[in-house]
Amino acid sequence: MDELFPLFLKLAGRRCLVVGGGAVAETKMEGLLRCGGEVRVIAPEVTSAIRDAASSGQIAWEQRSFLPSDLSDVFLVVAATNSTELHEEIFRQAQQQRILCNAVDEPDRCDFYYPAVVRRGALQLAVSTSGHSPFLAQRLRRELEEQFGPEYGFWLEEIGRQRRELFTSGMSPESRRAILKELSSKRAFAEFQARQNSAGEVSRSKVYFVGAGPGDPDLLTRKAWNVLRSADVVLHDALVSREILSLAPASAILRDVGKRCGAKSITQEEIHALLIGYASTAKIVVRLQGGDPLIFGRAGEEISALRDAGIDFEVIPGVTAASAAAACAEITLTDRRVASQLIFLSAHRREGEFERDLKSLPQAGATLVIYMPGHDYERVARALREAAGLAEETPCLIVSQASTPQESIWRTDLSSLASAPALPAPALLIVGAVAAAAKAEAAMAVVGAA
Ligand code: SAH
Repeated sequence: MDELFPLFLKLAGRRCLVVGGGAVAETKMEGLLRCGGEVRVIAPEVTSAIRDAASSGQIAWEQRSFLPSDLSDVFLVVAATNSTELHEEIFRQAQQQRILCNAVDEPDRCDFYYPAVVRRGALQLAVSTSGHSPFLAQRLRRELEEQFGPEYGFWLEEIGRQRRELFTSGMSPESRRAILKELSSKRAFAEFQARQNSAGEVSRSKVYFVGAGPGDPDLLTRKAWNVLRSADVVLHDALVSREILSLAPASAILRDVGKRCGAKSITQEEIHALLIGYASTAKIVVRLQGGDPLIFGRAGEEISALRDAGIDFEVIPGVTAASAAAACAEITLTDRRVASQLIFLSAHRREGEFERDLKSLPQAGATLVIYMPGHDYERVARALREAAGLAEETPCLIVSQASTPQESIWRTDLSSLASAPALPAPALLIVGAVAAAAKAEAAMAVVGAA
């Protein structure tokens, strides 16, 4: 016998003929109906289920014997009577008219066979022995049934939903493939099962926005530490150190979703899709951001996306870079003798926006902490001078890699900020009278590092 070609067929809207009206014909009718086939039954007598299906309009039943003309416009025919002669005639006619035929229990009069099938929702596992041993096929089916319980159907439904979401997210095909692969893993299935409570409902997962602090792992909060230690998935920014990432369990999925200047990076929408996708398979999803997640991060947009998707979340604050930089320089950001206001700014803004921000600043008694200053200190100095109207002698401090063993600082004033050395990122700028109190060896520290 030639090798059989396995396939799964779309039957919706196709004309399917069942000849016969007994119990076997009934199961054939049901199988075809379930897949949307347009079923017609030809038989003088039928079971009550076939009769019911006919009277409710699900199928058409013609109470008579088979006629060759019954095959016209038919896609496939199943012969399920107890007459071998009739089956032979149906098969011959079907062959002539190129119609697929299955005569029950007569392999020689079949164009196709019914495999033994395990159905778990949209998941179907079909077994064929090419007619060599229907008993073996049945035994294998039972074994597969044990191995792949009904939960696979529910799980598959969930994966399917996530897959559709991922396709509408505008994510790059490579990222999508990686997630889809992960979503179908054994590990993802184990997590899905763990999330099912006794009522069979899926328990809710949670997204934690965790502040990773300025770099030193000892500056993580205890809560951040604990959540990170039990994370299933960690979506982190590029800034977060390896040392901190290594706190996550070895089994956790780690993904760098950081935005880097120049390099092709993941879009905000892709991050939302990832958060939502992972939240529906993993229990503890950590969105790990440098410093405090609510300062110059995209947590606002991500929180809105999670709210819209009905996903539970919590924010765990962290030590922001400004605090670490102040600690490094040993200055008080709000020394009451000289500064009554503290202003956090980002220099990484669209053309002209940083300057506009500076124009609306109070003239005196404020400390400015400028995040993401870049290395164009000249531009920053000009903006501070022209837009903010600061005096040339205003003290300025550049603090690089605060809280890490590589931390360094450079103390200067506005008049010579433009010629300051470019300290390694991440670095920030502290501008205002408080900066003058930075520890004396500040400038020295940099000479060695620069
Ligand atoms: N959410 C973060 C800030 C993100 S913006 C926080 O709260 O700290 C990234 C910027 O933070 C960097 O460009 C740099 O200006 C600053 N930054 C982060 N870590 C730093 C560190 N260890 N030392 C100095 N500046 C740092």
